[in-house]
Amino acid sequence: MKKPFVTLDQLKEITAQYPTPFHLYDEKGIRENARKLHQAFAWNPGFKEYFAVKATPNPTILKILQEEGCGTDCSSLTELMLSDRCGFAGKDIMFSSNDTPAEEFVLARKLGATINLDDFTHIDFLKDVAGIPEVISCRYNPGGHFAISNEIMDNPGDAKYGFTRQQMTEGFKKLKALGVKQFGIHAFLASNTISNEYYPTLAGILFQVAVELKEETGADIRFINLSGGVGIPYRPDQPANDILAIGEGVRRKYEEILVPAGMGNVAICTELGRFMLGPYGCLVTTATHEKHIYKEYIGVDACAANLMRPAMYGAYHHITVMGKEDQPCDHKYDVTGALCENNDKFAIDRMLPKIDRGDLLVIHDTGAHGYAMGYNYNGRLRSAEVLLQEDGSAKLIRRAETPDDYFATMIFD
Ligand SMILES: *Cc1c(COP(=O)(O)O)cnc(C)c1O
Repeated sequence: MKKPFVTLDQLKEITAQYPTPFHLYDEKGIRENARKLHQAFAWNPGFKEYFAVKATPNPTILKILQEEGCGTDCSSLTELMLSDRCGFAGKDIMFSSNDTPAEEFVLARKLGATINLDDFTHIDFLKDVAGIPEVISCRYNPGGHFAISNEIMDNPGDAKYGFTRQQMTEGFKKLKALGVKQFGIHAFLASNTISNEYYPTLAGILFQVAVELKEETGADIRFINLSGGVGIPYRPDQPANDILAIGEGVRRKYEEILVPAGMGNVAICTELGRFMLGPYGCLVTTATHEKHIYKEYIGVDACAANLMRPAMYGAYHHITVMGKEDQPCDHKYDVTGALCENNDKFAIDRMLPKIDRGDLLVIHDTGAHGYAMGYNYNGRLRSAEVLLQEDGSAKLIRRAETPDDYFATMIFD
């Protein structure tokens, strides 16, 4: 059973002030989860989580994570600017971009962010546009398939990211010759993993590569970045990852591979997005229409422009009809938004309690890659974002777009 982090009474109060639809975030849940992550990696003195800004680019959310000891992971100019405006200092910013425009390297260097290079050819590009820093990281792509105990998790050989193994060696040598003093290694090999083995398996691969690179190039490797990819259970029957077990699994690989190689000073870092925020946000929407044709439809006041994952990936997002949690799920609905796109459906053939117009629906697990993937198709406007604070009160942390925002970039001659 998935339970919303907000009650119907609280929602009634919040919606009296802020009309639906909006994304609601759970400050308490965010903080507790961040503390648990730090507990899981407390064995590693240099540990740092760089929150993947793209997952939830909201200043209030970033500042909460900052208070919990996190930095930011950016991959665009505006994400760098946002981190800067939120007061993240240079070394608290990781810049893990790809196909990178020159101006982004320039800003990353200006802010003192740690640059994580995506490609061998970016060495010369960076040298030419912004200069080579003393600390740098390179993103590794092992190619082929990535498997955990014979189960294929993802297909790095098909992914556009990173250096090949051979390029890692050549790249480290070249960067060293260009004056780099300290190195990091990064890889992101599988997304939304529901497995306590993902990070430990990835760590095993990266630690081994680190030992080899040190031998081959004499590079001083100071950090290993396990990036994102630790997932969340979107479906009610999926088990949640156990972050303490994950941290312990990484520690074992560290003791097994790095410590014997004299690399016991290496810091672990992460760039989690989904795991940090996903479950601690939901999309609150009101049922506005019911339609009876060949199927039963419930129309709501949110649409795919507010949450693209179901339309884009066929992703499951659990839905709670507020106040009807104990009623039987004996109605089969498609829950739809208003876009002129038939994939604008938050749920298809979903068994739910009977929904009446005016019912409040909570669409779960939208805290990461939810609002952030919003767009303006059909002239639909992005919603507000509201924070449910630890004391139970609600605070607007981003206003809803207005038609003026929509028209702001248009040129009427
Ligand atoms: C998207 C992304 C992340 C975060 O991924 P999650 O699946 O949200 O954990 C981290 N690092 C990089 C480079 C990314 O592109």
